[in-house]
Amino acid sequence: MAAGAVAGEGVLMPAFEIRANRVAAGFRLEHAVLGATVLVACAVATTSKSPSLLSFFWLSNALMLGLIVRFPVMAQPQGWVLATLGFLLGSYAGEGWFLKVLLLTLANLVGIACGWLYLRQHAASVVQMRSPVGVFHVVVGVCIASAVGALLGGGAMQYLLQRSWQRTAMMWFGAEMMHMCLIIPLLLNVPPLGAARRLWRSGERAWGRSVAPLAVLVVLMGVGLYIGGPGVPLLLLPGLVLCALSYRVFTVSLLCFLAGSWHVFLLVLNDFDFSSQNAEAAMSMRLGLSMLSVTLLTVACARNHWGDAMARLEHSSTHDHLTGMLTRAAFSEQAHRILARLAHGRQPVALLMLDLDWFKRVNDTYGHAAGDVVLQAVSRTVVQSLRPHELLGRMGGEEFALLLPGADAQEASATAERLCAAIRALTIEVDEGKTLRPTISIGVVALDATDTLTLSVLLRKADLALYSAKENGRDGFCLSA
Ligand code: GH3
Ligand code: MG
Ligand code: MG
Repeated sequence: MAAGAVAGEGVLMPAFEIRANRVAAGFRLEHAVLGATVLVACAVATTSKSPSLLSFFWLSNALMLGLIVRFPVMAQPQGWVLATLGFLLGSYAGEGWFLKVLLLTLANLVGIACGWLYLRQHAASVVQMRSPVGVFHVVVGVCIASAVGALLGGGAMQYLLQRSWQRTAMMWFGAEMMHMCLIIPLLLNVPPLGAARRLWRSGERAWGRSVAPLAVLVVLMGVGLYIGGPGVPLLLLPGLVLCALSYRVFTVSLLCFLAGSWHVFLLVLNDFDFSSQNAEAAMSMRLGLSMLSVTLLTVACARNHWGDAMARLEHSSTHDHLTGMLTRAAFSEQAHRILARLAHGRQPVALLMLDLDWFKRVNDTYGHAAGDVVLQAVSRTVVQSLRPHELLGRMGGEEFALLLPGADAQEASATAERLCAAIRALTIEVDEGKTLRPTISIGVVALDATDTLTLSVLLRKADLALYSAKENGRDGFCLSA
C-alpha cells in the first residue's frame, strides 16, 4: 500500500482525504460561531484602520483564544479551519493585499496556538477561576500568545513594508496584551447556562444589597470624564477595588472590560497618539490597563478563594463529619432562633429525639466501622424524609434531634411513625454477606401555640418520652404528656 493511503470500504483512499472527510462531517454550530466571530472581528478591525497601520481594535485573537479555552469543542480541527478562513476573508475584505493578509494571519494563528497550548494545560484553574493561581496562568498564557504573535508579526511587517520590526512588535505586544487581559477573563468566566439563570436570580437579590461599589465606580467615571487627564485610571481605582471585593469574578471581568474600554474611549476623545511614532507611550498605556485588570481579577479571586475557605471551615465546624448533620452546638443555635420566631408568631412546634436501638450490640458484634456504616445509613434515611423547614442535628453518639416548626402533636406523631417505618425497612450490609435491620425509638414533645418553653426544657421532655419508648419495647415512639 502506498505511503499516506489507507483502505476505506474496499477502495484505497489517500489518508488526507479520509481525514478531510471526517473534518467535513464533524462541523458543529460552535465551530461556525468561532469562524463567524473571527470573520466579523477581522473585518471590523481592518476596514476601520488606515492602510499602513496595524489595526487599532484587533480583537479577533483575544476572542478566539478565550473561546477555544472556554469551549474546548471549538478548538477541534474544524474550529481552526473556520477560524483561519475567518481571518483570511475578514482581513482580505478590508486589506486587499493577499500576501500581507496571509503572513499576518499566520502570525496571529501561531501566537494563539502557543497561548492555547499553555492555557489548556491549566484549564482547571483558568476556566471559572476561583483562585489567584488561575489569574497567574492567564497572564502567562496571554504573554506567550502576545509575544509570539508580536515577534512573527513584526518580522512580517519588516519583510512587507520595511518597517522596524522592534517597533511593530512593541505596538503589537502592547495592544494584544491589553485586548487579551480585558477580553479573555470575561470569556473564561462566562457562567454555564443553568448556572447563569441561578446567578441571575441570586444576583438580583445581591445587587439590591451591594449596589454601592458599582455606584462609587460610576460616580468616579463621571468625575474622570469631567476632569480628564493622566490620573483618570488611578481615579477609578477605589471604585474598581470595591467592586473586586464585592462581586463575582465574572462581574469583575466585565467591569474591567468596560472600564478599560471607557478609558481607551476617553484617550481617543483626547486625541491620544496611538501611532508607532508614540509607540512607547501607547505601549505603556496598554500594559498599564492590562495590569490594572490583572490586579483587580487577582483581588476578586483572592476574595473568592478566601470566601470558599471560610465557607468550608464554617461547614466543617457546624456539621458532623460522620453523618453530615448539624452538630449539637449548631443545632441548638439554629433551634433557639426558630423557637423565638415561632413563639413570636404564636405558632406550634414539635421536637423529636431519635435513638438507635441496641446500637452498642452492633459495635460489639461487628466492630466500630460497621457501627459507623449503620449510623450513616440511618442518617441518610432520616435526611431524605425531611422537609426544607425542618431542622435535624446529631446530639451525640446515636442520638438525633429533629425540630418540626409548625407541627402539632398529631403531625409530629405521624412523622415519628413514618421515620420508625422507614428505618425498619432498611437492610444494611455490615460485613461480607452479613446484613442488619436496625430500628429506632423516638421521644416526641409537642407545644401548642400558647406554650413557650426553652430548648433545654423541650430536649429534657423529649428525652423522658424516649426513655418511655425504650421501656415500651423499642422500635416505636412515645408522646410526652
Ligand atoms: P438502647 O437501645 O437502649 O439505646 O441501647 P444502645 O446499645 O443503643 O445504647 P447505649 O447507650 O448503651 O450504646 C450506644 C453506643 O453507641 C455506645 C457507643 O459505643 C456507640 N457510639 C456512639 N457514637 C458512635 C459512633 O460515632 N460510631 C460508632 N460506631 N458507635 C458509636
Ligand atoms: Mg441507643
Ligand atoms: Mg443513646
